[in-house]
Amino acid sequence: MILAIYNTADYFILKKAAQMSVAAHMAFNPLQNKLKESKGTNAIYQPAGAAREYAPYASNLYIGCSGMCKYCYNKRGPRAGTLGNNYVTLKKCFGTEGDAIVVFFLELFGGNGGTVRYELLSNGIFICFTTDPCLPETFPLHAAIIAEAIKLGVPFKILTKVTDWLGSEIWQDLKCIPEAKEKLSIGVTLTGRDDLEPGVSSNQDRVNALSYLHNEGFKTFASIEPVIDSALSLSIIQACVGFVDLFMVGLESNRHYDKGEVVQFVNALAAIPEKPTIYLKDSIMGYFVGYTRASFGPNFINTVPVL
Ligand code: SF4
Repeated sequence: MILAIYNTADYFILKKAAQMSVAAHMAFNPLQNKLKESKGTNAIYQPAGAAREYAPYASNLYIGCSGMCKYCYNKRGPRAGTLGNNYVTLKKCFGTEGDAIVVFFLELFGGNGGTVRYELLSNGIFICFTTDPCLPETFPLHAAIIAEAIKLGVPFKILTKVTDWLGSEIWQDLKCIPEAKEKLSIGVTLTGRDDLEPGVSSNQDRVNALSYLHNEGFKTFASIEPVIDSALSLSIIQACVGFVDLFMVGLESNRHYDKGEVVQFVNALAAIPEKPTIYLKDSIMGYFVGYTRASFGPNFINTVPVL
C-alpha cells in the first residue's frame, strides 16, 4: 500500500474523511481544523490562462524544481522569488506531507461526506504546474494521493520531464491498481533542447517513456511547449505518432515568433499523414485570426479531453 509510507494517523484521518456524513464531518474537529486552514483552495484549484488549457482543475502541493529549465515560467514574474527555487519544498500551508494528504481529500470531498465533488470526477485533476510531479522529492506524495483518488473514480493527468520514477517500486505499485489505466493519463514535455533543460531526463528518454507507457496500456500525451525550434518540434511529433494519444502544442510566452514560421509549422503539422490528435494552444491560435482549430483538419481538436 503506497499510502503506508505516511504515518498511520494521517491514513486514519483520510479514511474517515472518505466515509463520513456531512454532520459527522463537521463534528470531527481535526478534519474541520484542517479544512479551515486550507481555506478550501490550497490543494485543488482552478488554473487560469495558459495553464487552464491543460485542465480546469489542478493540484500544486510543492514549489521549486531541480529541472532548471532555462525557459521555466516559475522563474519569471513577480512570484519567481517564491516559485523559482532550484530545490523542492512542500507548500508552507500544509506543514507536513501527511497534512497535505488530509487537506487534499477534504477538498476532494468538499464537505459532501463520502461523495467526491462531481466536477472533479468529470474533469479530473492535473498535477502539476509549480514543480515536476515525478521527482524523487515529489512522486511519493503524488503517487499516494493518486492511488487512493483513482479508486474513488477521479481521473488524473501527470505532466513530467523525468523518467527515473518509472523504475521505482512506487510506480510498480501504482500501475497495478485496477483503475490506473483508465483513470491516469501521463504526459511528458518535449522541446528537443536538452541543453536548456539540464536537471531533467533527456528528450529521447522522455520519448522512450511515452512508448513504454503506451505499451503498458496507459493514455499518453505530449506537451510540445514551448516550441523553441519549430523544425525540431515537428520532427519530435512525427517520431511519437503511434504511441501518443494527444499533442498539446504551444509557443513560449513573451517571445515574438515570425508569423511565417508559425504558419509553416502549423501547415506541416496538418500535413502529417497519420493525422495525430493535436490541440493548438491559444498562443498559436493568436497568429490565426479568423481561423478555428478545425480549420486545419478534423484531427485538430477544440477542447482538451479528460483522456
Ligand atoms: S521541469 Fe517544469 S517546473 Fe521544473 S524547471 Fe523545468 S519547466 Fe520549471
